[in-house]
Amino acid sequence: MQHPENDTRYEGLKVETSPENPGVINPYLAKKPRARKRQLSANDYVEGILKGDVTILSRAVTLLESTLPQHEAIAQEVIERCLPHSGNSVRIGISGVPGAGKSTSIDEFGIYVLNNRGGKLAVLAIDPTSERTKGSILGDKTRMEKLAIHPDSFIRPSPSSGSLGGVARKTRETVVLCEAAGYNTIFIETVGVGQSETACHSMVDFFLLLQVAGTGDELQGIKRGIMEMADGIAINKCDGDNIERCKVAAGHYANALRLFPVPESGLIPNVHTYSGLFGTGIAELWNDIFNYIETVKSNGWFNRRRRRQNLYWMYETIDQRLRNTFYQDPEISTMLDEAKQNIEQGRQTSFVAAQRLLDLYFERLKK
Ligand code: GDP
Repeated sequence: MQHPENDTRYEGLKVETSPENPGVINPYLAKKPRARKRQLSANDYVEGILKGDVTILSRAVTLLESTLPQHEAIAQEVIERCLPHSGNSVRIGISGVPGAGKSTSIDEFGIYVLNNRGGKLAVLAIDPTSERTKGSILGDKTRMEKLAIHPDSFIRPSPSSGSLGGVARKTRETVVLCEAAGYNTIFIETVGVGQSETACHSMVDFFLLLQVAGTGDELQGIKRGIMEMADGIAINKCDGDNIERCKVAAGHYANALRLFPVPESGLIPNVHTYSGLFGTGIAELWNDIFNYIETVKSNGWFNRRRRRQNLYWMYETIDQRLRNTFYQDPEISTMLDEAKQNIEQGRQTSFVAAQRLLDLYFERLKK
């Protein structure tokens, strides 16, 4: 490439090529392998979790997030044995677009709930875009300063394995472990974009949508489907000279919600305004959420919803397993590449190609 630096007469600053990577500088370190953590058995995990041991709980979550087959087997055993001890919590989904104030709010909400409801709080996340190595977007402890140092809170970033389905399933399984470890309030944070809300909605007892009041036409920006999922809407940043705008927006949301059919819970979602930064309006919002939980527990919707969610997760898991075994099959993957080319070049229709691949797959299963 033509660049002044490449000219031999160039006299400005130049980037030196780096020296060869030095070997290990400290020979002591080279010899001493890092102490390896003792392998835990399924029994160790279960006992630790039931005792509420946070270190073991963390390790169990890491285990279930692992994609290694040997880890998967132990993880499944641990989850199964924790299941009878799970379910005794209130699961709250908290969704909002980036910048809506989720971290700020969750920090305040968490402290409020711990102070007023007692027990222990776990904060989990579903964020399919997060990759831990690149710095996770959700669940990062530094974003929730108060909860991060609270002895009764457990914060876990989003699992980072590729597909949304996989990420969400792992969060769902983490809920089981946390409940078995005695966490009686579970927050599940999710980014308010794309499909993650649906996944989050299908594992919580109350789905809270965080909004901010902006230009006055915010209602147009939010998808009807998401509004319909919400059990409550909370407009954040209701402080300073934004208060009036938030009140107006709250009125618009409340009107819009009345146009939807009455949800199966029998409760029309309420709209609240609050400030995560100044802590105003938080008590009213949470009183309302806990009233909702009490009402649906007594009218039967709470249990019906959970049973329906369990079915959803069974089908989800089957779908994922089928899809994975199909796409990970080496012969199928070679044929898929051919089929892709055929379709792109107009030599085959999508339906014929799909049928051939499926036929081949089912033939191979019979063998
Ligand atoms: P997230 O991306 O949804 O997690 O949002 P953050 O919690 O990181 O907040 C985004 C920005 O909004 C930050 O600069 C916060 O300080 C600000 N913010 C959050 N809550 C409030 C609030 O209640 N009032 C005001 N004025 N700003 C807030």
